[in-house]
Amino acid sequence: PAAEQDALEVREVTKRFKGLVALDGVSLTVPSGQIRGIVGPNGSGKTTLFNVISGFYTATQGSVVLRGREVSGLAPYRLSLLGVARTFQNLRLFEDLSVRENLLLGLDRTRTSWIWRYPSLPWKVLGYERALAGRAEELIERFGLTEVAGGEPRSLPYGIQRRIELARAMAMSPTLLLLDEPAAGLNGEEVRQLAEIVRSIRDSGVTVVVIEHNMGLVMSLCDQVTVLSSGKVIADGPPAEVAVHPDVVAAYLGD
Ligand code: ADP
Repeated sequence: PAAEQDALEVREVTKRFKGLVALDGVSLTVPSGQIRGIVGPNGSGKTTLFNVISGFYTATQGSVVLRGREVSGLAPYRLSLLGVARTFQNLRLFEDLSVRENLLLGLDRTRTSWIWRYPSLPWKVLGYERALAGRAEELIERFGLTEVAGGEPRSLPYGIQRRIELARAMAMSPTLLLLDEPAAGLNGEEVRQLAEIVRSIRDSGVTVVVIEHNMGLVMSLCDQVTVLSSGKVIADGPPAEVAVHPDVVAAYLGD
């Protein structure tokens, strides 16, 4: 049954750049509704893995399966239509638009695209635009952005900008959310708020995969952790077990 299917399966993925092997036969399975942490020293292949899952890179070998469907080689926009959303290590917000406009741009316009079969019915389009605006307001409220919604992101504290980026990713109504170092640059209180938001996202049925260096956050947030080192999975399991795994300790000491 679909509800029990794994959200994501990475099967024996290898990614080569000329002579460099960034991912070397990586396999992992993420059950639906889990928060999966991806950790590992710098250069171990974490971002490359995200780029393969989200279609920015094509795997040299191996495959990516989303809820039972093979999606290897699909373009990022196709994957986003299939429910994959991601954030980036560096913020990518539209600086000249308001927070609200950033969210409106992120909203998934495809699931209601039937409306465009009736272009001669302007009242339908109006209703559609109103529905989008309503969804933007829901996101604004859910992510605590009410007071800043009319302002431009660049005028806001970094922690709030990161929250806007998360809200924009959620605007696409994803089933799989990929977060690339969401806690980078956040203070302790902001990290706590982030953890709460990510848990609420998981509890709403979204599967989350998160690359994160903040080990305190990984330990408290993730249901399961996959450790990469030199492009290979060296450990996979509950955070408390993975943290004391000898290979993991060695990989971090060698970093
Ligand atoms: P991490 O995210 O764990 O720090 P990356 O996935 O960014 O690691 O990088 C893994 C390896 O792949 C590194 O050696 C990096 O230099 C290399 N790499 C990543 N992207 C590219 C690319 N587009 N071209 C060439 N090498 C790349």
